Amino acid sequence: MRDLRFDNRFVRELPGDPEEGRHVRQVHGACYSRVEPTPVRAPKLLAWSREVADLLGFDAADVRSQRFAEVFGGNALLPGMEPYAACYGGHQFGNWAGQLGDGRAITLGETINPRGQRWELQLKGAGPTPYSRSADGRAVLRSSLREFLCSEAMHYLGVPTTRALSLVATGEQVVRDMFYDGRPRPEPGAVVCRVAPSFIRFGNFEIFAARGEESLLARLIDFTIERDFPELAQAEPDPARRRIAWFEEVCRRTAVLMAHWMRVGFVHGVMNTDNMSILGLTIDYGPYGWIDNFDPDWTPNTTDASGRRYRFGHQPRIAHWNLWQLANAIYPVVRAVEPLERALVAYADVHEVEYRRMMQAKLGLADWRAGEQADDGLLEQLQRLLQRGEMDMTLFFRRLADVDLEAPSLAVFEEAFYDPSARAAVEDELVGWLRAYAARLRIDGVPGAHRRAAMNRVNPLYVPRNYLAQQAIDAAEAGNVGELEALLEVLRQPYVEQPESERFAARRPDWARNKAGCSMLSCSS
Ligand code: AMP
Ligand code: MG
Repeated sequence: MRDLRFDNRFVRELPGDPEEGRHVRQVHGACYSRVEPTPVRAPKLLAWSREVADLLGFDAADVRSQRFAEVFGGNALLPGMEPYAACYGGHQFGNWAGQLGDGRAITLGETINPRGQRWELQLKGAGPTPYSRSADGRAVLRSSLREFLCSEAMHYLGVPTTRALSLVATGEQVVRDMFYDGRPRPEPGAVVCRVAPSFIRFGNFEIFAARGEESLLARLIDFTIERDFPELAQAEPDPARRRIAWFEEVCRRTAVLMAHWMRVGFVHGVMNTDNMSILGLTIDYGPYGWIDNFDPDWTPNTTDASGRRYRFGHQPRIAHWNLWQLANAIYPVVRAVEPLERALVAYADVHEVEYRRMMQAKLGLADWRAGEQADDGLLEQLQRLLQRGEMDMTLFFRRLADVDLEAPSLAVFEEAFYDPSARAAVEDELVGWLRAYAARLRIDGVPGAHRRAAMNRVNPLYVPRNYLAQQAIDAAEAGNVGELEALLEVLRQPYVEQPESERFAARRPDWARNKAGCSMLSCSS
């Protein structure tokens, strides 16, 4: 297997923990602790992303070599790798949680690919670090497969995300109590190698603010701008103004990300500030879920079932709250309240504009009309009907392009209904809505074929529905990764109808409605 070129700026330019070893501790005055992955018994490559491999400069023969499984299972290092675990804190479910850090993630290094791009390689589930607290530093196959699959799927859906290179089985068992109900059981372990330009989170800044380590906070902010926002570093030489411009950009990217999640029906499940990427990427796939029947109040995360803080429809507001925490954290360095507040207000504006733009595209409208027959009203009414009628979000929007505008009916939506009585309750109103919608489209006067093609480019047919991921997990646990491969293959082109793969477009089957892993997930992973 070929080597990669590494340029490890994070460990080279920022202070590290002088203490060595994996023992759990509070780490002060440092951005990271050097720690190597703990070797596993029998690393075996289960799945890989050929596009990410290509991005990094690996070919198929590299990936198939035993050394690849050794390196990306945590048993060997490539020359130039300098592994570390990052120190960060975070607000969990609205409360400051103190030091968290990479408890089971270990960055291997920052590689520079043949195109000159910087990609950080990070193993998840690679064993204990100083930040592991009371846990084991490992990850189970089910959660690793879910992260591997969904992060790649998100990329193809056009949603900003961390990527995944590989899924490696460890050949070891990990004990987990999946629903925290006193029934722990051993499960197969796995390691994902995830890949992103940076894994820095809001929490990396919060920890230094919380501890009053202001000079370190300033160093990390300026490092982040220089390494991860080079266009800002170039455009704004004044350090004070540059930091403001940076926060504005973080707000903007986060607003765009939230609009994407709402567009595709993704629920992150644990939007703690340590799970918020400074680059505006979807990061840390845990008990996430996909909306089947449209329900803004739904959360997949049983750990959040009581307060449902991270429910689908609440995500843009939570992101705002999280940005607020980031603003508080960087204030000691920025030392100006007003520009931070302005950026937070701008977040809401950008989100509003982006959300409208994406919904406009989903509905196939040529523009967004305010006033008498406002499109806002049309959208709000639709959302109420989708919720009351328990309609599948993905299938509804995909089939909307096929409605006969001359004689609108529910014919094209047959497969989008989950429940006959919920359907009966909205049928008439929905047909009424479709008539109003058809009338609205006639104002635009866009040719039908043109509109349908445009709608199909933003309304996916295939998303990694929770039950599909669970089927791939069940098969993989039984030793068959073919199901995962087939699913990933379809998800590479989520907007393209693939007749031979129709089964992956099906709405959630009844058996999956209340099944663990399909509609209920926990943080246990
Ligand atoms: P999460 O809820 O997955 O974002 O994790 C929150 C914190 O717990 C992070 O600091 C993780 O690194 C840590 N953590 C989660 N699971 C484990 C584990 N199995 N071993 C060690 N640390 C963990
Ligand atoms: Mg996390």
